[in-house]
Amino acid sequence: MKEIYDVIVIGSGLAGMTAANILGRSGHSVLLLERHYQLGGLATSFLRPHGIIFDVSLHGFPFGMIKSCRRYWNQEIADHIVQLRKIRFDNPQFQLETTFDRDDFTRILIEQFGVERETVIAFFNKARSMSHYDDQTLTARDLFNEFFPNRLDIVRLLMEPITYANGSTLDDPALTYGIVFSNFMSKGVYTFQGGTDLLINMMTKELEKNGVDIIKNAQVEKIVVKNGNVSGVNYRKNNGNELHAAAKTILSNANLKGTIFNLIGKDFFDKSFIEQAENVRLNNSSTQVYIAVKEGFLIDENQCGDLLFTSTAPIFDSEKLLDKNITSRTFSFYYPKTRPGSERCYVVASTNANYADWDNLTKTDYKNQKQKLIEQTINHLKKYVPNLDQNIEWTEAATPKTFERYTEHLAGASFGTKYEGLAISRNLSKQINGLFHAGSVGIIMSGWLGAVNYGVIAANDVDAFLTN
Ligand SMILES: Cc1cc2nc3c(=O)[nH]c(=O)nc-3n(C[C@H](O)[C@H](O)[C@H](O)COP(=O)(O)OP(=O)(O)OC[C@H]3O[C@@H](n4cnc5c(N)ncnc54)[C@H](O)[C@@H]3O)c2cc1C
Repeated sequence: MKEIYDVIVIGSGLAGMTAANILGRSGHSVLLLERHYQLGGLATSFLRPHGIIFDVSLHGFPFGMIKSCRRYWNQEIADHIVQLRKIRFDNPQFQLETTFDRDDFTRILIEQFGVERETVIAFFNKARSMSHYDDQTLTARDLFNEFFPNRLDIVRLLMEPITYANGSTLDDPALTYGIVFSNFMSKGVYTFQGGTDLLINMMTKELEKNGVDIIKNAQVEKIVVKNGNVSGVNYRKNNGNELHAAAKTILSNANLKGTIFNLIGKDFFDKSFIEQAENVRLNNSSTQVYIAVKEGFLIDENQCGDLLFTSTAPIFDSEKLLDKNITSRTFSFYYPKTRPGSERCYVVASTNANYADWDNLTKTDYKNQKQKLIEQTINHLKKYVPNLDQNIEWTEAATPKTFERYTEHLAGASFGTKYEGLAISRNLSKQINGLFHAGSVGIIMSGWLGAVNYGVIAANDVDAFLTN
């Protein structure tokens, strides 16, 4: 431990780790504090008996992750990123398979949905031109009405995967949709071959190489502010020891609202800033069902694909996607090639979910409802995987309470906050000298790529502050 660090990073999500890596690499002294016993935040995996290992949030990210990993991590990490080529949709409006890129979507929109080529080109160009400076009153709904009026089937094709990817709805600003959609459309959907555990191990080695001090099981309880400047943090180790670490700057990767209201306290901010922060909406949460099949039982890749967006709902409806009475699920299929050397297939079923539906249940109700979630998911999956019943080795469910427990994201938010959180996150340093934030905010700055890139932006801010 150093007497005083240039920066303390609170939390080792992809944004926190990336920021720590860049700052360490630039020669700053960095301390990374993580409350969990593993690094990675939501980019995590967990082990079960017989060598079973589940990935929590490795379903797919845009091509841009390769460049970000090469530049801000290393070539070896970038080299593990491979494309998922079979993205499937199965719902009452259409069934199709796609590589989920602009060329293939253009073909599908023209051939299967009967749209004029010019309209498709104009839509893609408009989505790609969107930026943070655009009019925020234009919603995703307005955008679709402009190009595909009354085409609920097209809205579903274009919107449903993005709602899964970042929780955005038809009423969110169109730019939050356009930027993320265009990121995916540039070259399709990618994954990390070898699994999340390998990625996090490789990142940890790189952090160590760059001189970052890492302490796990370190729960930061307070960011200490003196005369308008940060001066360090108080943290508690899992053995109960209360400790203090001093630093010139603090970069919090914890939930934005948790950082402001729990780690600092509203008295340290302007009243109007706090009013705005109070109005920042959290993003939705998720449920997941993890299924490991027996070793050697191979799921048919041609039948299931890599990612399968399924729904029995007649039309796309953002609210319905959150409903506890589940009609829509995304299945991620992991074949042995995902983890070379392994002989096992896995399926992870994800649904967006409301925290309130899982809060305040009795222990028995919570357990029963998780079991019901698992059974319903298996019933749904049987449509795509024959003989599934006889070949399941392990099942388990995660709920919004699980995500809250493991990351302290308020209400188990899967993607931090809605778009208005971005301005609050960016302006923290104007309120308290030396205080920065990076992590899932604003829909775009979330997901694996958004988090990594936001880590880069925040690291640059910290670097400029320290250098000046
Ligand atoms: C179910 C699910 C599926 C997803 N699937 C995908 C996907 O397929 N593709 C994709 O791109 N994205 C996906 N995401 C989103 C993606 O995982 C996240 O947006 C991203 O990993 C968030 O990174 P982050 O840097 O914001 O931090 P987080 O991952 O939120 O990590 C924050 C870290 O801070 C730590 N922390 C918090 N408070 C403290 C404290 N007081 N002291 C010390 N440490 C603290 C936490 O323990 C945690 O490790 C998914 C998310 C979920 C929930």
